[in-house]
Amino acid sequence: MKTAVYPGTFDPVTNGHIDIIERALKLFDRLYVVVGDNPQKAPTFTAEERVIMLKEALKPHGSKVEVEQFRGLLLNYVKEKGSNVIIRGLRAISDFEYEFQRAQFNREFEKDIETIFIMTKDDYAFLSSSIIKEIAMFHGPVKGFVPEVVERKLKEKFH
Ligand code: ADP
Repeated sequence: MKTAVYPGTFDPVTNGHIDIIERALKLFDRLYVVVGDNPQKAPTFTAEERVIMLKEALKPHGSKVEVEQFRGLLLNYVKEKGSNVIIRGLRAISDFEYEFQRAQFNREFEKDIETIFIMTKDDYAFLSSSIIKEIAMFHGPVKGFVPEVVERKLKEKFH
């Protein structure tokens, strides 16, 4: 069984993330979506809330996708799951430098773990969790850019 790990902050999950997940599922039998905290960003939603939203949005994929929270070194999580693949999404050139550095770093420590980059659908190329939060904060329309559960939670958060 081929498995992969898709790590991120997912604060909150957007349709861009979902698109990457669905593309990854065409290549792998099982995907672990792992919610972590980026030390550079203060999250809007707690890790528990982010996990709940992802689980709800990914329900249609059943047991092919598992959502978990993880604190620690990602490489250890990947090995723990018996996987050797990390999935990351790429939007624009601006993502590249950061992603390249992380992938190189991970390879330096675990030469058997590969990072695979998946490009999102054009429609989602501009989408980010931060943009979504900005729109929601000012009560703008987020429909079509995030799963329904996220739309609801954003309304609760920024009413
Ligand atoms: P991180 O804080 O780890 O970058 P994010 O939750 O912001 O976590 O993103 C997780 C992954 O999903 C990253 O690889 C990011 O580049 C990718 N990603 C985020 N938004 C999109 C999008 N709209 N299209 C494609 N990939 C995306």
